[in-house]
Amino acid sequence: MSTAAAARADVRSAVHRLAPALLALSHDLHARPETAWAEHRSSRRVATFLASAGLRVELPAHGLATAFRARAGRAGPLVVLCCEYDALPRLGHGCGHNVVAAAAAGAAAVLAPLAAAHGGRVVALGTPAEEGGGGKIELLRRGAFHGAAATLLVHPGSRDQARATFRAASTYDVVFGGRAAHAAMAPAHGRNAVDAAVLAYEALGVARSRLAPGDQVTAVVTRGGDAPNVVPEAAELRVMTRAATTLGLRRLLAVVERSAAAGATATGCSVDVERRGPVYRELRTDPWLAASLERHLRSLGRAAAPGDPLDVLTAGSTDLGNVSHVVPVAHPKLAIGRLAPHSRAFAAAAASPAGDRAVLDGATLLALTALDVWAAGPPGGEPS
Ligand SMILES: [Zn+2]
Ligand SMILES: [Zn+2]
Repeated sequence: MSTAAAARADVRSAVHRLAPALLALSHDLHARPETAWAEHRSSRRVATFLASAGLRVELPAHGLATAFRARAGRAGPLVVLCCEYDALPRLGHGCGHNVVAAAAAGAAAVLAPLAAAHGGRVVALGTPAEEGGGGKIELLRRGAFHGAAATLLVHPGSRDQARATFRAASTYDVVFGGRAAHAAMAPAHGRNAVDAAVLAYEALGVARSRLAPGDQVTAVVTRGGDAPNVVPEAAELRVMTRAATTLGLRRLLAVVERSAAAGATATGCSVDVERRGPVYRELRTDPWLAASLERHLRSLGRAAAPGDPLDVLTAGSTDLGNVSHVVPVAHPKLAIGRLAPHSRAFAAAAASPAGDRAVLDGATLLALTALDVWAAGPPGGEPS
C-alpha cells in the first residue's frame, strides 16, 4: 500500500472509531438549537470535543464570544475546516448545521494525530451566525482565514455535490413612520404605517414578475402595529435580495427602494431603507479542491451531481462566499433526502440515519481532501 493509500485507510478507520462520539455530538447540538450569535452551549460543546481529541482550543476566539479556534500541526499547508452550529428561529436545525459542525469537527479530530507526520496544519474554526449574521465575514475581517491553503465546509442538502452554487445576498430593514391617532374617534388625524408596509409588500410582489432570471426578492413583516384601536405609527418589513453576483444586488436595491417609496407616498408616511448585516458574496469554488472532493465522493459511493447552470435560479447564499474571494474554498453538499433546507422536514432529516451518514461521510470527505492539500500544497497558488 502506498503512503497516500495508507493515510486514507487511517482516515476511514479513525472516522469509524469516532462514529459514536460524532453522532452523539450531532444529536446533542440538534436537540438544543441556538440561533445566530447566541450559540454559547453549542460552541462550547464542539470545542470540548475537539480538546478531547487533542487539538489546542481557544474559546472564545478572534474576539467573538461564540467563535472558537482549534489547532493541530506546527508547519506546512493550513487547512481550515468550518464548524457552523447556529439554528433558525423557531425551526431548530432546519439548515442541518449540527451535521456541518460534527462533520468538520470529526475531520479535524482525525487529522490532528496525522498532522506532524504529513507536514500539514489543520484548524477547526467555530463559525457562528451563518444565518444572516455573517459570522465568517466578521472572522475574515479579523484574520481568521489568513494563510489558509484551503477552507472547507460540508453541508447537508438534497444532492451530493462537490461544487454547490450560492448567490450573493443582501438584507434590508424597511422602516415606515406614520402618525398615531384613535382608530375610531380620529382616524383622519392618523397616518397608517401598516398600510404603507402592506402596499410596499404588494409592490414587491408585482415587481417580482419583472425580475431577471436568478434575481429574487423575499420579504416578511417584522413590525405590524400594536393595537387595532390605534392607527399604527410604525411598521417594518425585512427584505432579502439575491442575485448571481454582488453586482446584481444593486438593481435589486433599486426595486426595494421603489416599492418602499410607493407604500410611503400613497399613505403619507416616511420610509427608510437600512441595510441589515453584511452583504453575502457569491461563492467561488476552487476547481482543484472540487476535483479532489469529486474523487473522494465517488470513493464514498456518492456520485457528485454535475453542476447545472439553472442551479442559480434556486440557490441559497452563504457567508463562506466572502471568504472564497480571498482564499481557496469549497463547500460540498451531501444528500440527506430529497428535501430543501429551512423546513421542518429538513430539520428532522438532520438527525435521521441519513443525517448521521452525512456526518460520517462528511468527516471522511473533508479529511481525505485535507490530506491532498497537505501533500500538494496550496491548490489555488499563494492565497492573497
Ligand atoms: Zn440556512
Ligand atoms: Zn446552512
